[in-house]
Amino acid sequence: LPPAPVEALQAADVAALLPVPDRHAHKYTRGVVGVRAGSSAYPGAGQLCVAGAASGLAGMVRYRPVDDDRETARSVLAAHPEVVTGEGRVQAWVVGSGGGAEAARALGEALNARVPVVIDADALAAVERPLPVPAVLTPHAGELAAMLGISREEVEDDQLAAARRAADRFDAVVVLKGRRTLVAEPVGRVRVNTTGTPWLATAGAGDVLAGLTGSLVAAGLSPFDAASAACWLHGAAASLASAGAPITARAVAAALPEAVRRVLDAR
Ligand code: AMP
Ligand code: MG
Repeated sequence: LPPAPVEALQAADVAALLPVPDRHAHKYTRGVVGVRAGSSAYPGAGQLCVAGAASGLAGMVRYRPVDDDRETARSVLAAHPEVVTGEGRVQAWVVGSGGGAEAARALGEALNARVPVVIDADALAAVERPLPVPAVLTPHAGELAAMLGISREEVEDDQLAAARRAADRFDAVVVLKGRRTLVAEPVGRVRVNTTGTPWLATAGAGDVLAGLTGSLVAAGLSPFDAASAACWLHGAAASLASAGAPITARAVAAALPEAVRRVLDAR
């Protein structure tokens, strides 16, 4: 691969990327994001992914558990009354967070919808080339290592090379999550995320990020811009929620609107 410049988004860059609804907006013009996350084994991942999606820029979240477990659907709806279930058009799908063994089938169904997808967690292991739609992959180092058939140490030793290799191989935007999250596009630019706190190393944080990323894709951002803006806002929300103390993934999602507000105030 040719050398790639590594960019870092600033608050003003993120602000310029975010679509703000005008007075003619309605929920469908803002975009509908479909979330296929959570399962009977991991119902909380459905709640957290939806929380991230509902706090983003899309106008509506459509939800379906990865394994179509009715109890999971009930618990997510109870926590998020604004979410809708059932079939219907979406502008982007998020698939895989907390999906368990059913994630491969759910990924296949999401790819059939012919809209961009954000692929997380258990669905990453089922990714095959060529992907038929624009995609954002959101692995941590262990998940990326499995996708590339190398060791976790190899990924950690050269994260930039690993993220670029995966973006090139899968022809998708790759978000390599960690202390300094990298966002790579196929044979192209790489962005390093500068926001966040080590307190974000907490269960469920990645589920929130996947939902938020899908929301930004549904709202009309390109996969690369959606992924990098989502990482920036997710880290900023974590810092707002934490202020030096432990945080839950739920608290990160709850701080997302404030992170968006601060960014928009700056433009
Ligand atoms: P996941 O492993 O899917 O739960 O995602 C973990 C989330 O926490 C990602 O957004 C990571 O970037 C973030 N994260 C994990 N460890 C750290 C760290 N040491 N410092 C900052 N962010 C982290
Ligand atoms: Mg995860």
